Amino acid sequence: MLDTVIIGSGPAGLGAAIYASRAALDYVVLEKAGYSGGQIVTTNDLDNYPGMPNIDGASFSMALQEHAEKLGAVIKEATVTAIERNDDKSFTLKIDGQDDIITKTVILATGANPRTLNIPGEAQFLSHGVYYCATCDGMFFRDKVTAVIGGGNTALEDVLFLAKICKKVYLIHRRDELRGDKHSQEKIFALPNVEFVPSAVPKSIKGDKKVTTLEIELQKTGETKEIAVDGIFVAVGMIPNNKLVPDFVATDKAGYVIADETGVTNTAGFFVAGDLRTKALRQVITAASDGANAIKSVTDYLNA
Ligand code: NAP
Repeated sequence: MLDTVIIGSGPAGLGAAIYASRAALDYVVLEKAGYSGGQIVTTNDLDNYPGMPNIDGASFSMALQEHAEKLGAVIKEATVTAIERNDDKSFTLKIDGQDDIITKTVILATGANPRTLNIPGEAQFLSHGVYYCATCDGMFFRDKVTAVIGGGNTALEDVLFLAKICKKVYLIHRRDELRGDKHSQEKIFALPNVEFVPSAVPKSIKGDKKVTTLEIELQKTGETKEIAVDGIFVAVGMIPNNKLVPDFVATDKAGYVIADETGVTNTAGFFVAGDLRTKALRQVITAASDGANAIKSVTDYLNA
C-alpha cells in the first residue's frame, strides 16, 4: 500500500511530489493528460514566480516536471475515475483501463479552470489579447486600453490592478448592478481611467494577429457596440475540477474542497492542494506552496 497518491501534476501536485520525495514517502503522481503543468502550460509569460522571470508556461511546466523527476517522482499517465474509502481508512483509486491503486492517503490537486464566455474570437485570441488572469498578464498592457468582463470580486480586483497600469480600463458587466463588494466598487467609480459599461453582454472578439475590438450588446436598447481594446480580461468565475471529490469530502457552495493551507479536509487521510481548495488567491506560487504544506500534513497524519 502506498503512503500517498498525488492526483494532478500542476504546480500543486508537483510541489507535493518534490516534498514527498524529500520526506521519503512511497508515492506516485497520477496525471490524466500526457504532460505536466496543468493550467500553466498554456500561459504565455509566467513572470510572477520568484526566481523565474521571463519564462513561458510550457518551459516552466517542463522545468517543474524535470525537477520532480530528478528527485524521484514517478508521474504515471492515468485517469482516475473514482476514489473509495475502505474500512481500514485507506483509499482505493479506480483507474480507467488500469489496476486499482490502494493508498493510505490521497492528495487531490486537480485544480480549477476559468469559466469561458464561449463567444467568437475568445479561443482564437487566447494569449493574444484574451486572458483570464490580470495579476499574471496585466503588466503587458502598460499604457494600453483593456476591458475586464465580469461583475464579481475578481473582476473588480482586476480593474483596480489594471487601472494602475493601463491608460483606460472598461468594466463590462451583463447587469447594471455589480456583484462584487461595495468598497471595491466605490474605489473603482472614483478612478478617472475606468469606464463602467453596465448591462452589456460580450458578443464577439475581433482582431488581426492580436485583439483590437470587443463587440458588446447593450441589453437596455438592444444596440450593438464595438469598443477598441488591446486586451480583454475575462473574470466570470472559475470552475473547480471537482469530479473526483467523493461524497465524504466537504465542499463549499461553489464546489471547492473546504480546506486551509494545510490541505486538511473533513476526511482523515484525504488532502487537497492548489486551486481546488477554498482560498483567496489562485496562483502558481500559492499552488506550489499548498503542495509542500499537504505533504507536511500527510507525514503528520502517517506518523500520528
Ligand atoms: P463570481 O463572484 O461568481 O462572479 C462572476 C461574475 O461573472 C458575476 O458578476 C457574473 O454575473 C459574471 N458572469 C458569469 N458568467 C458570465 C457570462 N457567461 N457572461 C458574462 N458575465 C458572466 O466569481 P469571482 O469574481 O471569480 O469570485 C469567486 C468567489 O471568490 C466569490 O465568492 C468572490 O467573492 C471571491 N473572491 C473574493 C476576493 C476577495 O475577498 N478579495 C477576491 C476575488 C474573489 P452576475 O453577477 O450577473 O451573475
